[in-house]
Amino acid sequence: MHAVILEAFGAPETLKVRELATPEPRAGEILVRVRAAGVCHHDVLHRAGKLPGAKAGVVLGHETAGEVVALGAGVTTHRAGDRVVVYQRRFCGACRNCLRGRQDMCRAVGVPAVDTEGGYAEYVSVPAAMGIHVPDGVAWHAAALACCPVATSVRALTSVAGIRPGDTVLVTGASGGLGVHQLQLVRALGGRSIAVTSDARKTGFLKQNGADEVVVAKDGAFGAEVWRLTGKRGVDIALENVGPSMGETLRALTTGGIAVVLGNIGGEAVPVAPGLLIGRRLRVVGSGMAPVDEVRQALALIARGLVRPVISAVLPFTDAPRAHRMLEERAVEGRVILEGW
Ligand SMILES: [Zn+2]
Ligand SMILES: [Zn+2]
Repeated sequence: MHAVILEAFGAPETLKVRELATPEPRAGEILVRVRAAGVCHHDVLHRAGKLPGAKAGVVLGHETAGEVVALGAGVTTHRAGDRVVVYQRRFCGACRNCLRGRQDMCRAVGVPAVDTEGGYAEYVSVPAAMGIHVPDGVAWHAAALACCPVATSVRALTSVAGIRPGDTVLVTGASGGLGVHQLQLVRALGGRSIAVTSDARKTGFLKQNGADEVVVAKDGAFGAEVWRLTGKRGVDIALENVGPSMGETLRALTTGGIAVVLGNIGGEAVPVAPGLLIGRRLRVVGSGMAPVDEVRQALALIARGLVRPVISAVLPFTDAPRAHRMLEERAVEGRVILEGW
């Protein structure tokens, strides 16, 4: 089969098309013919050698959609021809976290493309439980984004923040892969969104994706404008997709509000005022990849047209280096998808 291998850490050109043996599905596995794979910032960090613990010599890609073409021994949950998205990590299904539906917190098995082979390939063989069925009518390129950007946002807003109709939600880094889908979700779930961006030229794009208000943060400051837009009440929920803006984000919350932290750009520590947390009874919670059931919810929202995955380019797999360069140069609004060879 064709595959795109990360031959060494470095520039996008270190991604090379090579011929590999097509994997054989082992007992309990499904062989998936990959139809589309999203290119994520995580892949770009991995390729550049900036992801702790990641290896070179692997196939990248954890945003994978495709059809089941063969079954390993004992698989009863899938049939050849089923359309699936591949869950972002391998999980054991038996530990305490898996048994309470938190496959994202399973420590047992690891992440495709980091610990095993990923989706920039013609085929991938994974445990059947990782193949989440895709509803009819969802295109491959849309399905590929269900696991990572869409389901992560579903989790942050619903299970973690507990959004209710009428809530006002602040979305920082709003034009990024998480932000644009969060804006659509806030609207679908009956909330009102305030999008924060550093680039005034993104205003139209953010409004098209459901932003009720757009605040252009000059020098990183947006608190005063959010205060004005909420009649000096503050927001109920803040989705912090950036990291360094955390101090400003906490000051934008109303009494009893919740900040969900999803972004860590730069990786720096951020000062937090304990008095603000106490005085306003704030909650600050980290959130990440969704468990399997929330990926199913993300697919349902996509199938109903309530969330429309934002895709700026679809390129053949052989153009993976170009896709990486587009992400690095921030030449994209939404995801770049690899589809076809
Ligand atoms: Zn991703
Ligand atoms: Zn487990």
